[in-house]
Amino acid sequence: MLQIAEVVQLTDTGRQREANEDSYFSRAPLFAVADGMGGAQAGEVASRMAVEAFERVDEGAAAPEELLRQTAQDANREIFELAQGDASRSGMGTTLTAALLHGDEISFGHVGDSRAYVFREGKLKQITNDHSLVEELRRQGKLTRDQAAEHPQRSVITRALGPEPNVEVDTMTFSARPGDVFLLCSDGLTTMLDDEDVAAVLAREDNLTMAARRLIRAANDRGGRDNITVVLFRLETADAGALAEGETLVGPSAAAAGLSAEAVRAGAASTGGAAAPRQAPPAPPRRAPRRPGAVSPPPKRRWPRRIAKGVAALVVIAAVAFAAVFGARQVWFVGTDSSEQLALFRGLPYDLPFGIELYSEQAATDTTLESLPEARREVATNHEFRSEDDARSLLEDLENAAATTTGGTGGTGGTGGGTGGSGGGQSGGTQGAAGDGGANQANGGGGTSGGGGGQPGGGQG
Ligand code: CA
Repeated sequence: MLQIAEVVQLTDTGRQREANEDSYFSRAPLFAVADGMGGAQAGEVASRMAVEAFERVDEGAAAPEELLRQTAQDANREIFELAQGDASRSGMGTTLTAALLHGDEISFGHVGDSRAYVFREGKLKQITNDHSLVEELRRQGKLTRDQAAEHPQRSVITRALGPEPNVEVDTMTFSARPGDVFLLCSDGLTTMLDDEDVAAVLAREDNLTMAARRLIRAANDRGGRDNITVVLFRLETADAGALAEGETLVGPSAAAAGLSAEAVRAGAASTGGAAAPRQAPPAPPRRAPRRPGAVSPPPKRRWPRRIAKGVAALVVIAAVAFAAVFGARQVWFVGTDSSEQLALFRGLPYDLPFGIELYSEQAATDTTLESLPEARREVATNHEFRSEDDARSLLEDLENAAATTTGGTGGTGGTGGGTGGSGGGQSGGTQGAAGDGGANQANGGGGTSGGGGGQPGGGQG
């Protein structure tokens, strides 16, 4: 039995497009990437509809391949019908590449030229076949691989969701192993980087957050001609007992995270502690409390040790499940990542024991805390809870402030301004869940984070 140890999802507009038409879905053990096409925002709508179809998936409802096929076909019909009723959207469509982990196997559903890869024992292997003109020609022996990569029509796809009332969906099931890293990506990555480049990044970078950022940077460095989306996840052997030993800091951090008893109970009751409620919980408190490791106050009452331990374990499970939904879907904050650069995070600014993080990095910048005017540093590190829009505009604002400072003083390091598209990451609407909780089935962010993700920095520059 395998589970998701670590997951990261990033999307970036790239250097040449004005809008991001990619969308992704991440709710362990189910993931998807979609790359939309069609003018007047139709591509954006199509890709979003494709991933939104996965929000409604009940993983146990059918055999995995059938579930993926059915979901893709449902999305296809919805997109097709929308396009029929609206001339400005006629011809809109999207690729879709989805993955579902179940037991020791992983199944894929696939239409178009987004891709799924597995990185195992240092080797990268493409799992899906592109439904593209050049790939068809290559398979017929009419083009070499190199010719295909350079072909002017390489972005022409031969299969998509949306243009026709019915679509044929490729599905396949693959036997997975602990340590496998899976990559779902849009062609904005693979037209800029070849497989060797991608493999080199994955081989060099254990931390998936860093790996995803490096991949996007590398694609942008090569020109960033298209939107770039990367979903990466790593598998590990499920260890059901791992959480049972959890004790210290958990109660206080759950309380500090604004997890009401009612919400925690609801989470535990509806799921037996293994998954989270489907409905988003009430609005978060306005201020992010400090991180638990630093300042958790000691509990006022001393409970008998055994009871405390049991309660703590229960609270861990419930809090992780709850926070996976709560944090992932509702709350955003600005902070610094492990390379001390300003970044956008989704989730709650806490770590639980065993390296479980309740947040995931959504967009990175090249702006360091130090390059900010001193007066603005507090707002960049106080981890105040924000809406997505609010957090994004704050980040943009801070980048501009840093650029101004750097320009005005002739500053150091040259980090001002040049963030290119890297700050423009766009989550797939409501569905880009963070996936950092411990609840594997959580609606809105499952998967146990095995740690190792970028961690929001403290207040020092
Ligand atoms: Ca694309």
